[in-house]
Amino acid sequence: AAEEGFDIEDVEGAIEAAGHGPLPVLAVVGRPNVGKSTLVNRIIGRREAVVEDRPGVTRDRVTYEAEWAGRRFKVVDTGGWEQDVLGIDASVAAQAEYAIEAADAVVFVVDAKVGATDTDEAVVRLLRKAGKPVVLCANKVDGPSGEADAAYLWSLGLGEPHPVSALHGRGTGDMLDAVLEALPEAPAQTFGTAVGGPRRIALIGRPNVGKSSLLNKVAGEERVVVNELAGTTRDPVDEMIELGGKTWKFVDTAGIRKRVHLQQGADYYASLRTAAAVEKAEVAVVLLDASDTISVQDQRIVTMAVEAGRALVLAYNKWDTLDEERRYYLEREIETELGQVAWAPRVNVSARTGRHMEKLVPAIETALAGWETRVPTGRLNAFLGELVAAHPHPIRGGKQPRILFGTQAGTKPPRFVLFASGFIEHGYRRFVERRLREEFGFEGTPIHISVRVRE
Ligand code: GDP
Ligand code: GDP
Repeated sequence: AAEEGFDIEDVEGAIEAAGHGPLPVLAVVGRPNVGKSTLVNRIIGRREAVVEDRPGVTRDRVTYEAEWAGRRFKVVDTGGWEQDVLGIDASVAAQAEYAIEAADAVVFVVDAKVGATDTDEAVVRLLRKAGKPVVLCANKVDGPSGEADAAYLWSLGLGEPHPVSALHGRGTGDMLDAVLEALPEAPAQTFGTAVGGPRRIALIGRPNVGKSSLLNKVAGEERVVVNELAGTTRDPVDEMIELGGKTWKFVDTAGIRKRVHLQQGADYYASLRTAAAVEKAEVAVVLLDASDTISVQDQRIVTMAVEAGRALVLAYNKWDTLDEERRYYLEREIETELGQVAWAPRVNVSARTGRHMEKLVPAIETALAGWETRVPTGRLNAFLGELVAAHPHPIRGGKQPRILFGTQAGTKPPRFVLFASGFIEHGYRRFVERRLREEFGFEGTPIHISVRVRE
């Protein structure tokens, strides 16, 4: 009777649809102009033109959700990359390195009409080193006459070249089938298997907020100085750091320290790095400069972490510089600009003086606990029953849509499926989310709620 017309398959299907957790990540890499953006658009089924004509255009989104043959995955688009002061080889290599690092599998795009260039060969070496599964896309094969060009790419030693026309869609289905074979069901860094291992933290924020200073402070200055002096030795990508008696893995710290000054595409580079770090992490610590106005860029970085479904901590740095007046205005700004993440634990720190560094770990632990919270179905439905009785959905068109029951389909972050007798309005969904948070905590974690309607 509790099901009120839903049978068990409905429930199971809805739980399946809500997803069980993180998705595997596919990176699309290659030289500029080989058609990466066009291919990504094709994969994610995006209609609008995002192939930019203007060089150096800032794109803040680099990760998209895609689905093929019923399987969902994420695509990292590196097409916004621009040639920079380092020269084309270095920039392509750096771009590919970040993307490959974050990925579970890679589509390497080559322009079949041009054939393999030295730059392509350089990327092949990176791919070999990374050891991730690779699907070779021979692009711009718009018709049968191009198939021979594609065959030449066997010489790259990456296996079968898949002839594709990203522009017209030719061959993309077969290539995506190969992608699904290469992609693991779940990301390599499956959260469930990380039990007992160090938790993974992404320290992110716009340039100059103090990421590198904070990292130096927590990791100990000396090691960092050594790294900088060495210069030629490559920083490890991830760094184990002891904090509060535990070991934590700070992911992609090389990206924080590497002082790469790029003229064009610097913002894009930063957002790619941020996305890669977020993908690898369980919890994102977003660092903000408390002495400076909260910017759109800060908000984008927060959004990136939330959309990726990571636990979130907000750390306001440079607290040592704040006067009375700035403090007053900062609080107002936080309310208006970051009100949507009021659930995230907050710490006011100074990387310079070391102020409140000891509060970082408790905040991170709180966020991770919220992220992993599971509400038993019985308790959830007792709560939902009371809520619906006390605060019914507004009547619409003479009918009153009602939430019938619900279940938590997953954690990391918590995902709920609610079953309803009619369309549940956005405002009411927000109200339910607010009440769920009041009741069960969920501090420091985004929560997903999907509603199944029985007409
Ligand atoms: P990216 O720099 O690697 O992201 O490349 P873009 O996706 O921006 O594409 C570069 C150019 O190649 C654009 O003018 C595209 O229209 C063109 N292009 C991309 N894919 C194909 C294709 O399959 N066939 C042809 N003929 N042109 C393509
Ligand atoms: P990143 O680009 O985010 O890695 O930022 P950096 O760590 O390079 O810091 C940018 C600037 O802010 C540097 O001049 C730092 O000395 C300064 N800075 C970082 N943290 C603090 C802080 O807590 N207080 C003050 N006053 N300055 C800071």
